[in-house]
Amino acid sequence: MAKIAFIGLGNMGAPMAANLLKAGHAVTGCDLDPSRLRALEQAGGRAAAPPAAASEGAEAIITMLPAGEQMRAVWLGAAGLLAALPSGARSLLIDCSTIDVATAREVAAAAARAGFDMLDAPVSGGTAGAEAGTLTFMVGGSDGGFARAETLLAAMGRTIVHAGGAGAGQAAKLCNNMILGISMLAVSEAFVLAGRLGLSAEKLFQISAKSSGQCWSLTSYCPVPGPVPGAPANRDYAPGFAASLMLKDLLLAQEAAAASGAATPLGAQAAALYRALVEAGEGGRDFSVAYQWLDRMDRARLLHEAGPGARR
Ligand code: NAD
Repeated sequence: MAKIAFIGLGNMGAPMAANLLKAGHAVTGCDLDPSRLRALEQAGGRAAAPPAAASEGAEAIITMLPAGEQMRAVWLGAAGLLAALPSGARSLLIDCSTIDVATAREVAAAAARAGFDMLDAPVSGGTAGAEAGTLTFMVGGSDGGFARAETLLAAMGRTIVHAGGAGAGQAAKLCNNMILGISMLAVSEAFVLAGRLGLSAEKLFQISAKSSGQCWSLTSYCPVPGPVPGAPANRDYAPGFAASLMLKDLLLAQEAAAASGAATPLGAQAAALYRALVEAGEGGRDFSVAYQWLDRMDRARLLHEAGPGARR
């Protein structure tokens, strides 16, 4: 069983570290929040600070941090992980945070120059998937690094896909969540329009679930209360996947689209709509709250708040 350092024991990191402990690994964790360290100790792990102290002698170092800024500081900072790793160490480096592709590639290149294999391995599946150990990992990095990481990631997830070279995991995550953000808005708009036209939500669901409008946002995560019992719509949109995190991912996708010259007009509009929704105070609720928000929304006000795309 491996000695693992785990940096960032938040809503996702804590249950992921707990699953590594359950699989018999020795986990030393680090977080800025002392209550997170106590929780790790209660789960059978060891607490350490700063990150470099947690990484001493670790066969694998995993980070699960809020965004690219923290990820870059923890890996590349003067007192960061790369500076502290002894040359000749064989630690495998894995970042599971959702961050921008450019930072993922920059940090992986710095790791390679220092002689280390680094993978970007963002996840899908949310806190429920992290707790159940059923996350999907989208992994970018070398074949050798992926082969070394697979068993470790299997202790935290069910589907582990090697997406390509450095940054490919983040690219997959951003593209997938752009599809999800757009499709959730599409499904929500259809239910709002159906309501205005006197068509019941149950009937639209029954028809579209078996027609060409079928998609995951409709049949597995329906934003209208009723048709899909397990969906957040039936628990007053308690997350699930918070709207603020969807906005974060849509903005990362737009940043990547701008940098690469990709035309993503619906992605841009989805980001504008989720920004308006978050600014309206809905950021802590599940992202499927888009249906309720649009249903309450006066058409003219939305045109004013959410930008040119909404005017058409
Ligand atoms: P979180 O804010 O709950 O956890 C992040 C943790 O990192 C916090 O406990 C914080 O104290 C710690 N931290 C920040 N800076 C640090 C530093 N310099 N050193 C040590 N610890 C530090 O966030 P989360 O929900 O666990 O999400 C983590 C990542 O996973 C994010 O990139 C997020 O986008 C992604 N993600 C989240 C979900 C979800 O449903 N929550 C789903 C998929 C992906």
